[in-house]
Amino acid sequence: MELRNEPCPAPGPDQVLVELAACGVCTFERRLFAGDKRWYPVSPGHEISGVVVEVGSAVDALEGSPQIGEAVTVDLLTRCLTCGPCRRGRTALCRYRQGRSLSDGTFSFGGLVETISVDAKSTYPVGNAPILHAAMGEPIACTVHSLRRAGFMAGERVAIIGGGFMGRLHMALVRIEGASAVGVVDISEERRREADEAGADWVARPGAARQVGGLQDVVFVTAMGGLDLAVEMVAPGGSVVLYSTFDPEATVGVAAERAHRDEISIVGVYSQEPEDWKRAAAVIRSGVIADDLNRLVTARFPLTRAHDALTLVTSQPTYRVFVENGPG
Ligand SMILES: [Zn+2]
Ligand SMILES: [Zn+2]
Repeated sequence: MELRNEPCPAPGPDQVLVELAACGVCTFERRLFAGDKRWYPVSPGHEISGVVVEVGSAVDALEGSPQIGEAVTVDLLTRCLTCGPCRRGRTALCRYRQGRSLSDGTFSFGGLVETISVDAKSTYPVGNAPILHAAMGEPIACTVHSLRRAGFMAGERVAIIGGGFMGRLHMALVRIEGASAVGVVDISEERRREADEAGADWVARPGAARQVGGLQDVVFVTAMGGLDLAVEMVAPGGSVVLYSTFDPEATVGVAAERAHRDEISIVGVYSQEPEDWKRAAAVIRSGVIADDLNRLVTARFPLTRAHDALTLVTSQPTYRVFVENGPG
């Protein structure tokens, strides 16, 4: 891993120049750094917040665009808008790599930088929200997307398999959206205790989950396992939501007759789309889950110590570790 100097292109007419505040280190970066995902060379980092320091010539005329000095959360994924899924409005499933390039052509998500020019429409003002909350815009948008795809409605019973960072974001969002009860299932006693402290209605290890939590209207699977348990726990009319990444060989099985008679849905969920960002930014700005987000900050490092941040996430379980563009 190396830090390098790169020219930062001036913002185009519809773009803004954002000075990085913080960048969260996601599972994707952990897998790149650990060598589990061999996709090199690459410039990682896709969960950022920042401050707008310059705006392109046409930006003022764009309604809702940020002004100089405003804090924003930034959608760094690009969407081609011409492939089949994009044309159907399913831009999370864009068939092209979603990012940009460094000066030598290296693929870049754009996040672990000091400044970046991005389309004004990909930035979402967050008011006075803390910079680390704003840097959770992307995973919160993914969670909003997950609830939307699940068809989650207020009053439903929810179980979340996996009490890591994404599981806890699911818990925070279904609570503010009116879940009648939300439980967290995890093999780790520490994670169960922390989910309990953060307000879970129940927590259980996988073997006890069905008995402790009972049947569920929506079961979000945010861990790499637990698929059989999810199918076992889902109530008539309910959904099993496949949020996590899974082993390519893993399958999820539900008897066809049961799926038919009980209207069981298996829902795949991947990434996020612009409409999810609007809600994510509003949630961040409002502070309504600020306490939940504070609990999910494991550590923070200056940009010059990005290597240490990556070492930490590959060496022990963490919620979110952040790299900040500050002195240090
Ligand atoms: Zn991410
Ligand atoms: Zn596309």
